[in-house]
Amino acid sequence: MHLSNYFLPVLKENPKEAEIISHRLMLRAGMIRQQAAGIYSWLPLGKKVLDKICGIIREEQNRAGALEILMPTIQPANLWYESGRYDDYGKEMLCIQDRQERDMLYGPTNEEMITDIFRSYIRSYRELPLNLYHIQWKFRDEIRPRFGVMRSREFLMKDAYSFDSDYKSACASYNRMFVAYLRIFTRMGLKTIPMRADTGQIGGDLSHEFIVLADTGESMVFCDRKYLKIPVPSANINFFDDATIENIVRQWTKPYAATEGMHNKDGIWAKMTEGDRLSARGIEVGHIFHFSTKYSLPMGALIMGQNGKKHPVSMGSYGIGLSRLVAAVIEASHDDNGIIWPKEIAPFDIGIINIKPGNIHCDNFSQMCYEKLQSAGFDCLLDDCDEQAGSKFATMDLIGLPLQVIVGPRSAMAGEVEIKDRKSGTRKAMSFKDAINHIGGI
Ligand code: ATP
Ligand code: MG
Repeated sequence: MHLSNYFLPVLKENPKEAEIISHRLMLRAGMIRQQAAGIYSWLPLGKKVLDKICGIIREEQNRAGALEILMPTIQPANLWYESGRYDDYGKEMLCIQDRQERDMLYGPTNEEMITDIFRSYIRSYRELPLNLYHIQWKFRDEIRPRFGVMRSREFLMKDAYSFDSDYKSACASYNRMFVAYLRIFTRMGLKTIPMRADTGQIGGDLSHEFIVLADTGESMVFCDRKYLKIPVPSANINFFDDATIENIVRQWTKPYAATEGMHNKDGIWAKMTEGDRLSARGIEVGHIFHFSTKYSLPMGALIMGQNGKKHPVSMGSYGIGLSRLVAAVIEASHDDNGIIWPKEIAPFDIGIINIKPGNIHCDNFSQMCYEKLQSAGFDCLLDDCDEQAGSKFATMDLIGLPLQVIVGPRSAMAGEVEIKDRKSGTRKAMSFKDAINHIGGI
């Protein structure tokens, strides 16, 4: 992509309305535009990052055996009357009427709809386990939308739903999602810690929130520093080996970890050494939940068990806030000059800066670099705009592409480029041939 053909409305000044760094940087880097309180458009650069995150989530959900579907944003209220949640959900739910005066709503979540799909087709334990997920916009009329896409009213969520014939198999499904989440967040360059979450009136201990540690997090979290060192399983892990998956979950739930609401400062925490205690602020990026027959019972999602008797199917749900994740990654990875994207979700792999557009050597050489790198499989953004060098450097640092290739008049004549690593800030001059090897080896 040539910057002259792109739409990158960067802001030079810090927007006043943005209180936290990720919101500020997303606005400044031209990633999002607010359309109403807590409702955003995603501009090209932001959309690219969101798509990359979707891609990772899809890969890992599919790897763990979940199947992608797509449910609508608008739901009939009937299903919510059946579960009893229509009145319980409260003012966060946006209720609407269609022209026939039927009650509809903009989905804040999809447990009812997925249960309806399940009960329409599945009859027997033989067809289980089943895990269906989708990536879809949700609407929750938050009382205080703030911090940009971190707490917005419309937001993109991945929500998966598991169906099992009994508790043991439901636990295995839960564990698969747990391990898939570890892989998802790690691939995005995030350190997340699974924390036991409150299961409310439903009871049981199968609920975890996945929390990214960041100073701007909304809640306090308390955990054992050992979490920072536990290995995350590699891509070839066998998700269908229940015992192995359970072992990983055990390893990741053994050390102490609790959100503010669950924290007990007189229990295990009091016995831990000062050096092991980590209290920090955190951002919830994912939440997994086993809720058994909470929806299947009232909604009549029954299956024939092995004993020939019908019983309600056992369910769980597994959410990830994709749009919030974009902000969370920025909170965890930035410096004074802007965003530093982890490689896997960077909007482009490489930014090429032509310092002097109009200079024939610079134009030809930067274009040649662009074509060679593109054909080597790198997605590049070539800044070919007629701007001051200083402003070009600032923009490239702001948008945070992992690697910069800088082409100036003198280096172009010599067939050389300067390579800058965005994270470390190190710059190295080398021939373009060496640069290709260097970049390929990264
Ligand atoms: P929170 O406690 O932050 O309000 P929640 O517990 O109500 O979130 P869940 O129902 O668990 O949210 O939704 C799954 C995921 O969706 C959350 O882990 C979070 O990443 C994301 N999410 C929830 N609400 C919002 C929101 N208003 N804006 C952006 N993302 C959100
Ligand atoms: Mg939650």
